[in-house]
Amino acid sequence: MKGRVWDALIVGGGPAGLAAGLHLSRAGYRTLLAERRRYGGQAAGIGSLENYPGYAGGAGEALMRDWLSQARRWGLKTSLDEAVRVSRNGRGHFSVRLKKGGPVKARALLWCGGAAFRSLGVPGERELSGKYVWNTGDEAPSLRGRVAAVLGGGEAAAQQAAALAGRAKKVYLVSRGARLKAHRLLLGRLDAAGVERLPGFEAARIRPGALELRAVGGGKDRELEADAVFVLIGKQPRRVPAGWRRAPEGFFKAGDANGEIYRQVAVAGGDGIRAAMRAIEFLEGA
Ligand SMILES: Cc1cc2nc3c(=O)[nH]c(=O)nc-3n(C[C@H](O)[C@H](O)[C@H](O)COP(=O)(O)OP(=O)(O)OC[C@H]3O[C@@H](n4cnc5c(N)ncnc54)[C@H](O)[C@@H]3O)c2cc1C
Repeated sequence: MKGRVWDALIVGGGPAGLAAGLHLSRAGYRTLLAERRRYGGQAAGIGSLENYPGYAGGAGEALMRDWLSQARRWGLKTSLDEAVRVSRNGRGHFSVRLKKGGPVKARALLWCGGAAFRSLGVPGERELSGKYVWNTGDEAPSLRGRVAAVLGGGEAAAQQAAALAGRAKKVYLVSRGARLKAHRLLLGRLDAAGVERLPGFEAARIRPGALELRAVGGGKDRELEADAVFVLIGKQPRRVPAGWRRAPEGFFKAGDANGEIYRQVAVAGGDGIRAAMRAIEFLEGA
């Protein structure tokens, strides 16, 4: 892979990157996709994908596997590697340093790196990450017979709490605000699953087996027994590891990395396709 100049390099193998890879490869462009962790991105961790048209509740992982093999059938090359530095050389090519594979060059670059979960910034969170603290249920070990606490007031937190209720002995959903920003179907599921809602609290400290909560409106603080804590208080787009001030020609962003507020598999896939079509226009004109 070294030495050659790819037509396009895609960083990130979630729905946006995979959809872009399929379109570019099918259009005949020599395209390499670098994914640092798991093909399918966040979508590969969705247990039951109920709102993707034509795919009634199957696992996100299976859908993403199909996207990947379809793209590979059209010639997409893939590498499990992380892009650590991006720059543009004097010949107008992008140069991307991959952690394991070294530098690769491409005429167009598509950044599909997704969005990262925001952290609480409370004592214990960082130290206990991966042991007691996670962002999503698919990262955590078995919760059978254990107590889980989900922190967050939006749809992602509500969805996570409802999904965990089938795996844990007890699930709390802790939110700062009085009302959850989640649609009715989810709210109904939380109640049906017996999730205990604790509005008006924020995390103050996480300890192994315990979550200390501070009352937001001046009420009484409390402490929960919790074997596993899930933090879903929002996300922020992952930034391109580049030194440039303004994105150069031939650079495109797609999916959650694009600052998308409606974070959905279908939206990210569609945005990946749009970025690929723009990249094709660029490559044809270049
Ligand atoms: C718990 C949860 C439940 C969800 N439920 C639903 C749902 O029911 N329905 C729905 O439509 N959507 C759902 N979503 C949202 C959906 O999964 C995302 O919106 C979608 O996956 C975004 O796609 P993306 O390709 O933009 O980003 P991502 O899926 O985040 O993929 C980005 C990829 O880029 C990789 N990457 C980042 N930086 C680098 C780098 N430097 N080098 C190489 N690779 C890199 C990451 O490892 C990742 O695999 C859910 C999300 C979560 C977390």
